[in-house]
Amino acid sequence: MTVTVKTASEEVHSAEVPLDHDFHNAWGAIYSNSAFIKDDRARQVWEEYTVNPMRVEQQYHLLLNEYTDRFRSFFQGYWPNTFHAHVSDVLNPTTIASLILHAASTCPLVVEDPALSPLLKDDPQPEKLQQFVWNLLGWNETHIKTPKLAIVDGIYGSGYGPLAHSSDEWEYRILGSGLESFYISRNDFMTEEKLLKKLIEAKQSGCVAVVCDLVNASDGSIFPPEYFRLLRVCCDKVRMCLLVDEAMTAIRCGAPLVSKRPEYFEDGSNQPDMIAFGKGMGVSGVAINYKGLMMRHMAYQKEEQIRLSISFWRAMVTRPIGIPVLIGALGTLNVAVAENWPARSEQIGKAFREFITRHTKNDDTLEGEICRGLGAFIAIPREMNRRFNVMAAFRRQGSWARWIPKLNMAAAVDSEAIERYLIGFDAKLLRRKMTEEAKHLGTKPLWCCICGFDQTNDDWCRTCFIANCGTESCAKSFSSHKCL
Ligand SMILES: [Zn+2]
Ligand SMILES: [Zn+2]
Repeated sequence: MTVTVKTASEEVHSAEVPLDHDFHNAWGAIYSNSAFIKDDRARQVWEEYTVNPMRVEQQYHLLLNEYTDRFRSFFQGYWPNTFHAHVSDVLNPTTIASLILHAASTCPLVVEDPALSPLLKDDPQPEKLQQFVWNLLGWNETHIKTPKLAIVDGIYGSGYGPLAHSSDEWEYRILGSGLESFYISRNDFMTEEKLLKKLIEAKQSGCVAVVCDLVNASDGSIFPPEYFRLLRVCCDKVRMCLLVDEAMTAIRCGAPLVSKRPEYFEDGSNQPDMIAFGKGMGVSGVAINYKGLMMRHMAYQKEEQIRLSISFWRAMVTRPIGIPVLIGALGTLNVAVAENWPARSEQIGKAFREFITRHTKNDDTLEGEICRGLGAFIAIPREMNRRFNVMAAFRRQGSWARWIPKLNMAAAVDSEAIERYLIGFDAKLLRRKMTEEAKHLGTKPLWCCICGFDQTNDDWCRTCFIANCGTESCAKSFSSHKCL
């Protein structure tokens, strides 16, 4: 396909470069370099907030509802329930357990039953209600007092808390606290019988949900769709909630959610109950699919029933989400819809893969896989990454470099334009422009091009616009880079 891109010389005075070589983008937290300024709605509310904050405060619930509706429609049935600052705060077994307990204790089976509903009774009977909920979920005291998450091999986990125990990075592992997760290995997927046995064991040991991701956030490897099918079937049989961590994959992997891609979604009859979201969305949290394989037993049918449940949860905190964050999150979703980022991410992924394949075609020094990931989440071998003089995101111990490009760059959907601006005849001019701008602003490249760390020193290359963090090994590697 072809795209209209200005030549770099024409671009020198325009605000947006056709392609920048920052594929780190704050670990994938930046979808676009124009943020939400292209969304009139969010921009107007934002401007109003800077002039008359009280007026916007008064519209708080309207805005929150608007965001909720936009989210639910864009993510096709997932309702954002709970908001947090980081995904590490979200993937916490006690938070997930409370959220499930809440969904069950405010479900239509409860609130519409005169014998149970605290709304319909003058003398609420919490013990009776609690017993009903435990029976519905198949939980006992273990799930309440010492809840755990069952994690599928390869999930990214958390920087702290219980999921940090199983991180690939020792720096996170030493911060792990709380009960260790229940581990499900790839081996457990050999047969349905084996996985079922494992999940029964998980549930008995106090697991309240299974957590998996579909694209490995460290190395881009794909969770086989047949494993995902098996997992859904077994979760359904064991009555265990399934949560997909979409923090890295939402919007970026060719569909609003990677779990909505046809190979994972299939006929839609057996779907996850929850997703964790975060990063570029502007806010992190958990969204519930009330038609999920476990949630459906709670009999939510009507929108009002769902809204009622969500309103109870949100009423437990002063403000579920701060106004500036809410405006940003709303604007991001609006732009994602207007510019159809899911489809664009697929085009970007295709163009980058074409470029990488073409570039490495005649290189017999490379062996094994050269490109992983899905859509605009691309992983290439760390060693190979060096030749492009770009900023990528790494895990310290990982052998893969992750390219997480912005979704709004004009040249990113055309493999020849990528080549031209990244390593071809316009690359130098583009980077010189970035260097000039950085000098003007007193800034420098944001990320170490060797390790991805976000503190760079003054020893940076003015030709390639790349930097290093100053550790001995990064400085050494950096000093041997071959300039454009
Ligand atoms: Zn470094
Ligand atoms: Zn250089």
